[in-house]
Amino acid sequence: MHQKPDPDALGASLALANVLTRMGHSVQVVSPTNWPDFLKWMPGAKKVIDYESAREKGNAALDEAEWLFCLDFNALYRTKHMADKLKALSCIKILIDHHEQPESESFDYGISLTSKSSTAEMVYDFIKESGNDALISADVAACLYAGVIGDTGSFRFPATSPDVHEMVADLKRKGLNHSIVHENLYDNFLEDRLRFIGHVLLNRMEIFYEYNSALIAIPKEDLLKFNIKTGDTEGIVNYPLSIQGIKLAGLVIDRDEERKWSFRSKGNVDVNSFARKYFNGGGHFNASGGRSADSLRTTVQLFKKAIKENASQLQ
Ligand code: 5GP
Ligand code: MN
Repeated sequence: MHQKPDPDALGASLALANVLTRMGHSVQVVSPTNWPDFLKWMPGAKKVIDYESAREKGNAALDEAEWLFCLDFNALYRTKHMADKLKALSCIKILIDHHEQPESESFDYGISLTSKSSTAEMVYDFIKESGNDALISADVAACLYAGVIGDTGSFRFPATSPDVHEMVADLKRKGLNHSIVHENLYDNFLEDRLRFIGHVLLNRMEIFYEYNSALIAIPKEDLLKFNIKTGDTEGIVNYPLSIQGIKLAGLVIDRDEERKWSFRSKGNVDVNSFARKYFNGGGHFNASGGRSADSLRTTVQLFKKAIKENASQLQ
């Protein structure tokens, strides 16, 4: 899965691992980095190797693998410190992913469907189409459902097809408790995080009405002051899109090693291309990310220049 896994990356991986294990395979899930506390409830999460903090264990598992399933990313750099290791492995690499423009040469087999809501939906299809419907337990259903609600914004985004709703109906019949999953993901934070969001919306958000765009830039001092952990910043990028007329939102966080960008858009504003062109990133048409080695101030200036250059698409 990609670094700093979200509900889709971890949920799809744990669901697939659960099913493959019960088919008699020996399976190990490896994450390139740690994951947010709000994903710790996922069945199987405790056994996942965090490659960043347990590199030897991670390398041993990877060296032993005959098949490597690569889920919810399509370019090796998205696995950060694990990328060189994955590149050097000679085992069979199988991609299951829904992001734009896959780095096909890095994988031996796989499926890339940008129309799919989530990798979780693709794993669900994969389990069904391989004749293993009976292995979709309530635990598997919870992991898959988390991935779907994470990536569809709880069934809001355009990729929420009839198939998605049919899948959820099926998961409900298999024992899914959907309200517990929502609570685990969204009602499980510390007070600090909510105070932090209040601060950020009041003091760190800039609106550019002439370009229907918004920017939130978060300096390191804010992360320290509010004791912000992995996952606490998830979702903040969506707030500016709730303002009438705003079509593009950018969020940049000053992380130690890089400035990490998130982009979200509404309608026909293509933030996959935007992230690729200006911020060494990519993702989906309406949700993408990127990164910069520049200072926070410099990368913010580039964002302002970029929205001006794209004025015709934004206006
Ligand atoms: P988020 O803003 O939630 O981190 O990411 C939004 C979407 O863009 C996710 O599907 C994520 O996998 C993808 N994404 C985030 N950062 C990058 C990046 O640096 N490169 C690429 N190609 N995709 C990214
Ligand atoms: Mn995804």
